[in-house]
Amino acid sequence: MGEAQALAGHGARIFEFSPAVEVTYGETIKVRTPKGSVTARKLLWACDSFLNGLEPELHRSTINTYAFQCVTEPLPDALIERISPIRGAYSDIRPVIDYFRFTRENRLLFGSATPYIEHIPSDLKAWNRALMLKVFPYLQDVKIDLAWGGPMACSPNLFPQIGSLPGHGNVYFVQGYTGFGVTPSHIICKILAEGMAEGSPRYDLISSIRRSTVIGKDHARPLIVSAGKIWHQASGFANGRR
Ligand SMILES: Cc1cc2nc3c(=O)[nH]c(=O)nc-3n(C[C@H](O)[C@H](O)[C@H](O)COP(=O)(O)OP(=O)(O)OC[C@H]3O[C@@H](n4cnc5c(N)ncnc54)[C@H](O)[C@@H]3O)c2cc1C
Repeated sequence: MGEAQALAGHGARIFEFSPAVEVTYGETIKVRTPKGSVTARKLLWACDSFLNGLEPELHRSTINTYAFQCVTEPLPDALIERISPIRGAYSDIRPVIDYFRFTRENRLLFGSATPYIEHIPSDLKAWNRALMLKVFPYLQDVKIDLAWGGPMACSPNLFPQIGSLPGHGNVYFVQGYTGFGVTPSHIICKILAEGMAEGSPRYDLISSIRRSTVIGKDHARPLIVSAGKIWHQASGFANGRR
């Protein structure tokens, strides 16, 4: 919401519930939505895990995995003090992390993803609660008010992808934060904005990182993601990140 407000302060307009359904490239780019269209000299693809194959060149270079979170009921001060007097944001150091922090409503937010086999747990509240109780067994009697999850686009090298589309210098993209988009997106998109404006050496550097194709992603997604997780978790284990 803060970012949307900041953007509006710069004169941008946001149209919700208005998905791009077709994009035509050229000197002037046309983006069609179900009820209208927009033309522009430059375009930025920033759909991440929701791209759904709309731009095949970008679709091929990430694969979606799912992450899940829950929040407890609001906790009393004594429990907050016990868990984190500084109300910090924490994660462990495993390749697939558990993480937590307090919300403004004094709820504990706890998140993770399936560590080895890619699947969507049938009961997200129970699944998240079990993980939370491993870290905080004394929250046994605390109620989970809400649990949810969603997709995240992963890149093969786990690094975000920015650049312009081959053959279309005015069509840019950013995607593939691999589950860590909240903070790095600010610096990555600053660098991207430099590239879209007058260009910069650091844009040239980051956009030159090769984008590999994720072979088989449309037919064997859970298998590929599970193999990736097992490999990363095993290498993490060997490096003491367990
Ligand atoms: C449960 C969960 C927990 C997470 N926890 C963390 C965390 O603790 N820390 C962290 O760093 N990251 C976390 N992530 C990952 C983080 O949310 C993503 O890395 C980040 O949101 C990616 O930013 P983005 O702007 O690239 O894409 P998004 O935030 O996904 O934005 C893409 C936007 O494109 C829009 N869009 C898609 N297709 C179209 C279309 N055709 N037309 C118009 N609009 C379209 C979508 O509606 C969406 O608003 C979590 C993700 C999940 C699912």
